[in-house]
Amino acid sequence: TPAQPVTTLATQASADLFERARTVTPGGVNSPVRAFNAVGGTPRFIRSAKGAWLTDVDGNDYVDLICSWGPMLLGHAHPEVQAAVADAVARGTSYGTPTVPEVELAEEMVARTPVEKIRFVSSGTEATMSAIRLARGFTGRDVVVKFAGCYHGHVDALLASAGSGLATFAVPGTPGVPASSTELTLVLPYNDRQAVLDVFAEHGSRIACVITEAAAGNMGVVPPEPGFNQFLAQTCRENGALFVSDEVMTGFRASKEGQWGLDGKVEGWVPDLVTFGKVMGGGFPAAAFGGRADVMASLSPEGPVYQAGTLSGNPVATTAGLTTLRLATDEVYAHIGSAADVIKTAASEALTAAGVTHTVQSTGTMFSVFFCEGPVKDFADASRTDSAAYKAFFHSMLDSGVYLPPSAYEAWFLSSAHDDRAVQHVLDALPAAARAAA
Ligand code: PLP
Repeated sequence: TPAQPVTTLATQASADLFERARTVTPGGVNSPVRAFNAVGGTPRFIRSAKGAWLTDVDGNDYVDLICSWGPMLLGHAHPEVQAAVADAVARGTSYGTPTVPEVELAEEMVARTPVEKIRFVSSGTEATMSAIRLARGFTGRDVVVKFAGCYHGHVDALLASAGSGLATFAVPGTPGVPASSTELTLVLPYNDRQAVLDVFAEHGSRIACVITEAAAGNMGVVPPEPGFNQFLAQTCRENGALFVSDEVMTGFRASKEGQWGLDGKVEGWVPDLVTFGKVMGGGFPAAAFGGRADVMASLSPEGPVYQAGTLSGNPVATTAGLTTLRLATDEVYAHIGSAADVIKTAASEALTAAGVTHTVQSTGTMFSVFFCEGPVKDFADASRTDSAAYKAFFHSMLDSGVYLPPSAYEAWFLSSAHDDRAVQHVLDALPAAARAAA
């Protein structure tokens, strides 16, 4: 077993809770990365959060660079979001009938993105699962193309690893996914146009959709090469397939209009279907998929493709999302963008001074630091990141009161609540962490 990282903080209360949690929950957590398996040590149990800061059960404070893995665009416990949620809760929490906030949230999202119609679900996983079902139902085709390193939630057909050759069908990415669930999935290297052309040449008439993260964020931030998403949209159109852009992470995060605001809007193209989650739920379980009106018309009850959900469009969750999006103005994105610039520059300077090989990559306000040489353009490149160096860096930052994602392959998230004090706290922690990583 690897040596446990030494900490100078009091962490006994977290350690005790972790022990209790492991007795009743596999690995002690409800989503694997939270367990610190990649970095070792004790995950901190968070008692409360306010603005840019987390407070753990031992009373330690951390500047939060996880932001719930993306959703908390306005920081924690934003007073207006809290007030709107409290007001919604006071009127009951779920009716299983249509409600006002789901209509208003759909209108807000349609106004800000290329989608014409939208359907709410409760998680990003449900959104991508439903989007590929709809793409298959609409096209009458069965094959799905995805990219290695792009994560779309734990959908069986998308938990797939590349087969033995580029145009061969995928194999299950985890035990529990039967081969039959991935035998209609093709997995290609990200940013590889030729690979896309090759699979369309071989399987074109069977391809229902290409699904991609609008900008990859789940292998660290790997932006699409200029024109790559446009190329995917066009190749799909020419072949009668649908282009599904997964904006669960980038939506209302990379920019006010998501990744599409950075490429499609500028270049003049739209995806056929888009999936959303994270920010649009304002910290509650809400997600969505949407797109072309004619494609969405295939969805029940309007069309034949079945899809449903007990808590879909939940009034509390959609109120939190609606309030968050209404507050997510140009100023919010400008603020997050400049805070990100300051942290990126300082991280790079500190790592350079310590002689640590690294690459900073970003798309809009989203960024991550790879501990390897760049550019990182696909999963094979990202896999070269030095996870031992990241582990040392991570623990030094944590000990200085900065909670980074406990994995070398994640984006660092900021919020509009990351003010000068929070940013300075991160800057002060960087030099020692960089030396620890050397
Ligand atoms: N798609 C992308 C791009 C994601 O980043 C995620 C989650 O991280 C998902 C889908 C799955 O969302 P959820 O965790 O809400 O199921």
